[in-house]
Amino acid sequence: MTFSSCGKFSSTESFNSEQNNNMLPVDFVAALRGTFPSERLYTDPVDCYTYAYDNSRKFCPPHAVIFPLTIEEICTAVVLCNQYKIPLVPRGRGTGTAGGSLPERGGIALSLERMINILAVDPANRVIVAEPGVLNQTIQDTAKPYGFFWPPDPSSAMYCSIGGNIATSAGGPHAVKYGTTRDHILGLKAVTGAGNIIKTGCYTTKGVVGYDLTRLLVGSEGTLAIIAEATLKLTALPAVTEGITAYFKDLNSCTEAIVKIMSLAQLPSALEFLDSGSLKLIQNRYPDMLPPDANTMLMIEVDGSQGEIQHTVASILNTCRTTGLINANKTKNTAELWKARKALSPLLREIAPKKINEDVVVPVTALPEFLNELTCLTNHYQIANVNFGHAGNGNIHVNLLIDPDNPDEVHRAGQCLDQIFDLVIRLNGTLSGEHGIGSEKRAFIEKEIDEPTLTLMKDLKQLFDPNNILNPGKLFP
Ligand SMILES: Cc1cc2nc3c(=O)[nH]c(=O)nc-3n(C[C@H](O)[C@H](O)[C@H](O)COP(=O)(O)OP(=O)(O)OC[C@H]3O[C@@H](n4cnc5c(N)ncnc54)[C@H](O)[C@@H]3O)c2cc1C
Repeated sequence: MTFSSCGKFSSTESFNSEQNNNMLPVDFVAALRGTFPSERLYTDPVDCYTYAYDNSRKFCPPHAVIFPLTIEEICTAVVLCNQYKIPLVPRGRGTGTAGGSLPERGGIALSLERMINILAVDPANRVIVAEPGVLNQTIQDTAKPYGFFWPPDPSSAMYCSIGGNIATSAGGPHAVKYGTTRDHILGLKAVTGAGNIIKTGCYTTKGVVGYDLTRLLVGSEGTLAIIAEATLKLTALPAVTEGITAYFKDLNSCTEAIVKIMSLAQLPSALEFLDSGSLKLIQNRYPDMLPPDANTMLMIEVDGSQGEIQHTVASILNTCRTTGLINANKTKNTAELWKARKALSPLLREIAPKKINEDVVVPVTALPEFLNELTCLTNHYQIANVNFGHAGNGNIHVNLLIDPDNPDEVHRAGQCLDQIFDLVIRLNGTLSGEHGIGSEKRAFIEKEIDEPTLTLMKDLKQLFDPNNILNPGKLFP
């Protein structure tokens, strides 16, 4: 079997002559075999096939896949790839949405999925030390018996890795109160693109020795270093959690409530917004769940001690009383609601498998203007869309439901998206709250990051990865 690659080693000039076109050099593969036995080194295109895509739905096959078990093995792979100038793309579980783990230029997919050891559970210091392939859910299950959790909670928690979470600074509904991955990492061990093993941060919750390389690596999307070990900061599980649902007749009443809720002294632990398109999808799947005249909805969660949350719940219910409120009530069955919220992305994939899925962020006070202008833009370009997301962070998943086989629609969606990004920047927002830039958004990064800052970022990349072997082509236009 043969396959065609997205790219042909274009970042690595010296790799071309010894082998024909897209084959890996024989010496290089032989050297890899010295470290990786056959069950941990795939070279058959059929075996490599599953490592050719992620949730961006693009297809870019690697020429080989390796599965290291130790940081030393990662190091060996990096050194060899430098020697032969072969692209090396770190991969967790391939659930990323921005194309970050796709080997666009072929080369090696370095899968961390077999580095799954939890190295230390230390409840007194509120720390878990883990290898990068451990699933987010495994961390939660490990922490729970001690009364703790790890706050990053992407909807993909059951099957995404903490290495992937760190490389994308993943977050979920609870980021409004607890922050994203960036706020919950104490230290890392990693292998730079130059092949050096580095240790960033420390084991303690305070520490100011040297530059904060931990925060630099978090969100670096596998372009600077391969994360091989992480010291995760745990948080105590709240004693009580309560849910509130609020339904509104119109968008403006709903966004007014969001801004007022975020002005209250106590933060909700989740504040999720669902627009009319989202509600229609849920109504189709769960016909009796929502009031028939609901146009927009907030799913709100509050946590803390019993005493704390009583007051917060009362304030939030009061705050929801805008002119267009249909009803706001405490919810008994929060699990059922979260199930419906989590089902939104897969439901959308059913009706528009190649939808454009963005995760823009604007300041919460700008949400009313953003959502109204978004409606104008999508109407103007006649693009069906469904929008929902983490309103407490101003983070909205804008889904443009396009048919990729309709060139006119694809063209209009491109123009619409460009203007959506301009709008986000004008409102002092950011292009991505949690998915990252990867390959999907790199054409737009210059809208947000000015030239001197971008140049400094490229200089940093050069320092960490002088031969540009680590995830080449990602992030930068
Ligand atoms: C149904 C669904 C729901 C989702 N919901 C959310 C959500 O609520 N919030 C959210 O933030 N995301 C969400 N995502 C996106 C995705 O799950 C996250 O980005 C997740 O963090 C990716 O983890 P992964 O292990 O799959 O990483 P991958 O997709 O394999 O990789 C992601 C990026 O990290 C890099 N990388 C992976 N491991 C390492 C490592 N050890 N060292 C260096 N770089 C590495 C890769 O090169 C790539 O650039 C969702 C995805 C799906 C499919």
